[in-house]
Amino acid sequence: MTTIFSRQLRLAVLVLSATALPYSFAYAQSQVADTTQVASPSTATIAQNLFAEIAQNNQLMLNLEELCDGIGPRLTGSPQLRLAQQWAMEKLKAYGAVNVHEEAYDLGKSWTRGVAHVRLMNANGMSLDVRQLAWSESSPRKVQAEVVLMNVKTLDEFKRIAPRLHGKIVLALSVPRATREQEKNFKQYSDELNKAIQAANFSAIFFVSGREGNLQDMEGSPKMRYKKNAAFITKEHANLLQRLMARGITPKLEFEFGGRLSKDGVKAYNVVADFPGTEQADEMVVLGAHQDSWDLGTGATDNGVGTVVTMEVLRAMHALKLKPKRTLRVVLFSGEEQGLLGSKAYLKTHAAEQEKIQAMLTQDAGGGRITGFLDMKVEAWYTALNEAKEQSKELNFLDITYAAGGGSDHQAFFEQGIPAFAPIQDPLDYRSHTWHSQVDTVDHVVPDQVMQNAQVMAAMTWAMLNGKKLPHQAAQVSR
Ligand SMILES: [Zn+2]
Repeated sequence: MTTIFSRQLRLAVLVLSATALPYSFAYAQSQVADTTQVASPSTATIAQNLFAEIAQNNQLMLNLEELCDGIGPRLTGSPQLRLAQQWAMEKLKAYGAVNVHEEAYDLGKSWTRGVAHVRLMNANGMSLDVRQLAWSESSPRKVQAEVVLMNVKTLDEFKRIAPRLHGKIVLALSVPRATREQEKNFKQYSDELNKAIQAANFSAIFFVSGREGNLQDMEGSPKMRYKKNAAFITKEHANLLQRLMARGITPKLEFEFGGRLSKDGVKAYNVVADFPGTEQADEMVVLGAHQDSWDLGTGATDNGVGTVVTMEVLRAMHALKLKPKRTLRVVLFSGEEQGLLGSKAYLKTHAAEQEKIQAMLTQDAGGGRITGFLDMKVEAWYTALNEAKEQSKELNFLDITYAAGGGSDHQAFFEQGIPAFAPIQDPLDYRSHTWHSQVDTVDHVVPDQVMQNAQVMAAMTWAMLNGKKLPHQAAQVSR
């Protein structure tokens, strides 16, 4: 998640905090109850009840284990994700959701992981830890080739070295990026780069995992640029290859990749479920999380946690027989990892309803405790988040931060001007270890912290379900 926090913005936060101070819970009740309708004792009680219900009866870890240890990795377009979606729909129905259904969109071809064998044929002869990028095509047989380094920043630099890449395994320390000038006509730049990559005709390209400790990374989508024998190599094994080259030894590798694309395009699906509102049932708060994951681990922190938290919020509200003003709509997206495909498809399908979305909330930064929310740099939303947190003492610790951040499904919503919020979370070992790696497993999830996630998301969602109508406003995001 991208977060911007300049000195100037800090000042703005201070100013806004100062103006927000009078809206304390007690003051709002006694002095200005008519203008701050959100702060009523019953709302505070409901938040307390939600905290207690989730503490006593939550099914978070059971669901996470069923999803991750039982069903497993959930690559978009895979049979496992379809199983996970069936599982989620059954659970949501049992939790009291209505209108539980799936919504299809066109994914393009699906991709299935196969073998990835890479062996050094000279020097120490080791097997190297390399994983094929999802959606990359494989050569149909074993290939032997020499390694060549690529460390370029621009398209021009790439074109200059391209003749040396022909037939080689490219160890990519960096790849060409568009200059500011090229960004203005990105399509033209992109087409030109794609053509240059085709023409270079290297036999494979290895990207270096960003993490130490043999931790892997994963990427890929039906629209990826590096289409053939693309893979991640661990940092340690990339370092080995570079040390050999520094001593004048050209590494020669034999590789075999078995990942394969489906013959035809397939559909992908989002799961949708409602907990109906009362007075303003046509308006809704969308509580979403992506249920798809990368496939090296089991997607426990990215985003099994967000999935089970979302389901738990609905369970707890139904268990307490709550009657929200607006409808709670739970959406379990797919295709998030391939570029927010599911959330974009949802918004397209529900274009006519967009005005009716009060807010969208999503949790997608692992299972660390929630410490605050980004206001997306919209003053009215900042105020609303503060009012929401002031409704109950349980939420009072939250920091509402003057900053915008994308990188998950909420981005697709606020690009349409819809108030869309993601919590700020304790990172734990999310960025450093579990994110997209082979150790994204239940071991790295702390039950107490996931319980706190569900409690906070439930209370914030409740506030949005019943609070003042939030204005829609185009938000600026930095990427
Ligand atoms: Zn995620």
